[in-house]
Amino acid sequence: MQTQLPETTNFVRQVELNRKIEGNYPLVKFGRLSESLVSNEGDVTVKIEFGRCVGFACLKAKVSAKLLVKCQRCLKPMEAEVAGDFKFALVKSEEEFELLPEELEPYLLEGEEQSIIDLIEDELLLSLPMVTAHENACSDFMTSQEKVIKATKEAEHPFAALKALKDDLGN
Ligand SMILES: [Zn+2]
Repeated sequence: MQTQLPETTNFVRQVELNRKIEGNYPLVKFGRLSESLVSNEGDVTVKIEFGRCVGFACLKAKVSAKLLVKCQRCLKPMEAEVAGDFKFALVKSEEEFELLPEELEPYLLEGEEQSIIDLIEDELLLSLPMVTAHENACSDFMTSQEKVIKATKEAEHPFAALKALKDDLGN
């Protein structure tokens, strides 16, 4: 069994140790995100690497999850795959923030430990599509469309068979 991943940790200490946090967090842990979901069953796949970026203490992370959201068109549940990739430089003060090169986004450290859950949740909320709707068509519409396609295929079939037969006879 997988050991449970920490929900909070001292980010600076993790940088010193060049630590990696990799694994899954259950969706239930993400209260704010759950408000936008039909179900909070499932996991968020996370990979966080603590280290240095151009000399600054930083963290790099990848998060992904399959979320069950409501289709805004047919109001039925649908799966939305979200994924995010981000990098933060860890800063303790505004002065430190001023020193950062433009490409580094700051993460302001507060207190002894920082919340990994909040870090991931913020990113997932940003990655949620603004409009969630079934990609091609909604379920009811889709079913009738599928029927049409199936009927067309069946109708085509006898002609195809006839053509094959004709070709055979021609040889
Ligand atoms: Zn729909």
